[in-house]
Amino acid sequence: MRLILLGPPGAGKGTQAQRLVAKHKIVQLSTGDMLRAAVAAGTPVGLRAKSIMDAGQLVPDEVVVAIIADRIGQADAKNGFVLDGFPRTVPQAEALDNLLAERGLKLDAVIELKVDEGILVKRIETRVAEMTARGEPLRKDDNPEVLKGRLAAYRTQTAPLAGYYDAKGMLKGVDGMAPIDEVTAAIGRILGGKAAGKKLAKKPAGKSAAKAKRAKAKAKTKKVAKKADTKAEKKAAKKAAKAAKKAARKAEAAKKAAKKAARKLAAKAAKAAKSAKKAKKVKTGGKGRPAKGKQGRVKAKARRRLTKAS
Ligand code: AMP
Repeated sequence: MRLILLGPPGAGKGTQAQRLVAKHKIVQLSTGDMLRAAVAAGTPVGLRAKSIMDAGQLVPDEVVVAIIADRIGQADAKNGFVLDGFPRTVPQAEALDNLLAERGLKLDAVIELKVDEGILVKRIETRVAEMTARGEPLRKDDNPEVLKGRLAAYRTQTAPLAGYYDAKGMLKGVDGMAPIDEVTAAIGRILGGKAAGKKLAKKPAGKSAAKAKRAKAKAKTKKVAKKADTKAEKKAAKKAAKAAKKAARKAEAAKKAAKKAARKLAAKAAKAAKSAKKAKKVKTGGKGRPAKGKQGRVKAKARRRLTKAS
């Protein structure tokens, strides 16, 4: 499963992404986290990104696209991923389309967490106040002033992505102001419905995934077979042709033998019929009536005499 979570900073993308990771056994790809790791490690990307991030601005497209291109190619992302914080501009979305197309991959859904910006600012103010009271360290961009700048960047540069994905028929909206579990349930319904819809849409076409896979494999085999021109294959083809010829010869001989046997059988039957006829002739004296023995003749004579006498 490959998803994008859209929404302004503080909308709860990270929380929902973690739940999707646990449920679907996919990885969370957060460009914000990756950039923070690069900053902490002091890599060239981190050094370049640090001041931009601190100011709540967007890091250049080519930097984040390069990070994502590398990340989605890694083994743990093969089962799927949820993109959190990427893409953030239309050029990033276009670059992602190309990255996926190059790898023969497709997005399953783009989920937008819709929130009230005013409430978001209040939330972050409360959180900053609570963390400060507890003496916990704050992220440089985790303050109401920077958040306002990040929200402005979202409005101008990221919000147009909703239209971008809506035009592709991929955008699904969820009320991000609802309690966390309700947001999770709403996302679950979208993804569950999508899976069911996929099944229904695929059935009338008469091609299950397995069937399509088999057809693809068959086509590939055919292609490979066509291309194959090795000595061994030629030899095998010759051998097969020879075997076919031999089988044909054998079949012809069997046919002949069967005909001969049938003729023999017919002759035998005719002979048997002839001898049976001859035997009948002998028995009936050639008159079609059974021949009478001596006793019969005497009995007949006696009967004739009796008739005369009466
Ligand atoms: P996040 O944790 O997603 O809010 O990101 C923190 C900061 O990292 C952002 O304010 C940006 O400066 C930078 N950043 C993260 N993702 C991107 C992105 N896709 N494009 C540009 N900058 C990004």
